[in-house]
Amino acid sequence: MRTPPEFEELKCGPRHIHIHGHRGARGILPENTLEGFRFTFGIGVRIVELDIFATCEGTPVITHNPRLSPYSTRSEDGSWLQAEGPLISELTDLELSRFDVGGLQPGSEYANRYPDQAFMPGLRVPLLGDLCRMISANGYQDTWLNVEIKSHPMHPENTPSLPVYVERILSVIDEAEVGSRVVLQSFDWRILHECARQMPEIPRSYLTYTPKPNPPRPVNVYEDSPWMDGLSLAAHGNSLPDLIASDGGQVWGPFHHDLTAEDLAAARNNGLLVNVWTVNEFADIERMIDLKVDGIITDYPGRVQRRLLDHGMTWTPPRHSAAEPEGVAIA
Ligand code: MG
Repeated sequence: MRTPPEFEELKCGPRHIHIHGHRGARGILPENTLEGFRFTFGIGVRIVELDIFATCEGTPVITHNPRLSPYSTRSEDGSWLQAEGPLISELTDLELSRFDVGGLQPGSEYANRYPDQAFMPGLRVPLLGDLCRMISANGYQDTWLNVEIKSHPMHPENTPSLPVYVERILSVIDEAEVGSRVVLQSFDWRILHECARQMPEIPRSYLTYTPKPNPPRPVNVYEDSPWMDGLSLAAHGNSLPDLIASDGGQVWGPFHHDLTAEDLAAARNNGLLVNVWTVNEFADIERMIDLKVDGIITDYPGRVQRRLLDHGMTWTPPRHSAAEPEGVAIA
């Protein structure tokens, strides 16, 4: 199945590399909020990355963890959660809407990681439908969503059954008629296979992380990994680009430290786009610009803009003016 012609726009060019605002612009605004997404579009960055779970009603919502985090969530009375909150998948839409996710808990490790993040009381976990409707409006026609669908092979309780979960997400995207400006990504390749079954024309991005001994992460690329839905790296000469292309993927999303020039070349030979996550440090941004990836996913979109400008580059294809974000209002 062919991807929409618009997808070609997401390739890098001689003088541009795309910026994907990670969870909006987590470095400076509360993550996965409409305010963060609106700001990112407002500075002329055309692509935002976001994370999806679903409530017990099956409504896709934009949030990163399976449970509400005590480091970024307050109850209706303004008090911080004392421990991890309930599963998103066990909350009704109304119950979830009562929590405030507009700031980081002072003194927490997470707050210390993002010392420049603004504090904006009153922000709520948005619905995926809210964001889809935002980008279907005038002024946002050139924007894209890089939608990460969260799930865990060993924790089925975190999500609805995968066919139902994916169906709900795709129907929200379809209803807003923004499917030609969406990329679907996941570490859980069972999700990508379900997306391919239900809506094969939407491009799929295979997120990868190669586990290191120190410290180990439970994701995602290793032999017999439940995240890979039966696929084997060894069966493809230990080449992730070969594996992803042969599985019908269009995009590879490696952790930036894992990416080599050889693998990038292999991805290009296979016709894959390469979007790296999550690139925040100056030296790492420079390395990704030198490698010439297609997209840089970052918590600091302004920081990547400035590095690209230093290289005489921009973050939009020639027909889009980076200096004037086409009437997108910040307010
Ligand atoms: Mg994500």
